[in-house]
Amino acid sequence: MIPVTKPYLPSREKLDRYIDGIYKRAWLTNNGELVQELTRRLEEYLGVENLLLVANGTLALQIAYRALGVTGRNEPTEAITTPFTFVATASSLKWEGVEPVFADIDPNTWCLNPTNIEPAITPRTQAIVPVHVFGNACDVDAIDAIAKKHSLKVIYDASHAFGVKYQGESLLKHGDAATLSFHATKLFHTGEGGAIVFKQKEDLERAKKMINFGITGPETIEELGINAKMNELQAAMGLCVLDEIEENLKARAAVWHHYEQALSQTLQLQAKPEALVYNYAYFPVVFENEEQAVQIAGLLKDHGILTRRYFYPSLESVESLGKKLIQPISKNIASRIVCMPIYSGCDAEYILSKTKRYL
Ligand SMILES: *Cc1c(COP(=O)(O)O)cnc(C)c1O
Repeated sequence: MIPVTKPYLPSREKLDRYIDGIYKRAWLTNNGELVQELTRRLEEYLGVENLLLVANGTLALQIAYRALGVTGRNEPTEAITTPFTFVATASSLKWEGVEPVFADIDPNTWCLNPTNIEPAITPRTQAIVPVHVFGNACDVDAIDAIAKKHSLKVIYDASHAFGVKYQGESLLKHGDAATLSFHATKLFHTGEGGAIVFKQKEDLERAKKMINFGITGPETIEELGINAKMNELQAAMGLCVLDEIEENLKARAAVWHHYEQALSQTLQLQAKPEALVYNYAYFPVVFENEEQAVQIAGLLKDHGILTRRYFYPSLESVESLGKKLIQPISKNIASRIVCMPIYSGCDAEYILSKTKRYL
């Protein structure tokens, strides 16, 4: 079977050497040497400051909200977000007692459409949580302007946007915070893991306390906290994956361009702004209708090719998130979208030879 994605496995010898070091130091977690080294190297690679490593991408979102004071613990609170994303974007808000309020996406970029944000603002709104979906850049300038006008915090879920550049700079520089997921299936990973990039140093310092139970000294517990620390084994994996990121990106780019050349005439692809330098994390295609999407995914499966209906369903239909209004554009795109297999070493030639038979 050809999977839709495959975790990138870096050099085993190198990972073993890092693990030898962990054994020698007998230091497994609590801001160890490797977590510090990975923090420095990621800041340098990504071209950002104020990066905090955490245990996973969902906690990255939760910690970012709380460090920025976005919480429903004291009063009814809402955040405006997109229904076209992985469930964690919205469920992390709900988990923090913040009601996710959906605003519909742009039909071409599939990111939150800024024109739908203002009508969704109420006196309870404290934040906007857009997603750089599939690594595409949101309309960051328009979103920033709305946030400024209404004094709202902006937390970008940038889980898909590792290494993406926009207007000559890291896309992660936008918003009060941008969060990353380093889950095994993501482009860059630490097995499980994540990070937050804060705009302000003060917010980073607050979040550092939060991820370690609110403890600030051997005998001081300064505030309410949680455990969201990354450990040394995760950091070791990250350091190895980061060493090979250029080869990984090159291999994915080749697969991505192969698909694009073969499919862009017949299927709808994600529209991206000119000023974007993409990371080739995903290759989603939108079929003419839902029947065709489901049928072709089924036929490819018969050839041993696994695709995925990402992101289906549109999140307004997920009951645990609460009763929500229909978001027609997201619902429509979600019903017709399929993500093609993409990873380093993926056989695009074979996949395309089968796919093209059914188009
Ligand atoms: C993967 C992902 C997350 C969750 O990250 P985990 O590291 O799995 O907790 C959140 N948001 C989006 C958009 C994701 O793709």
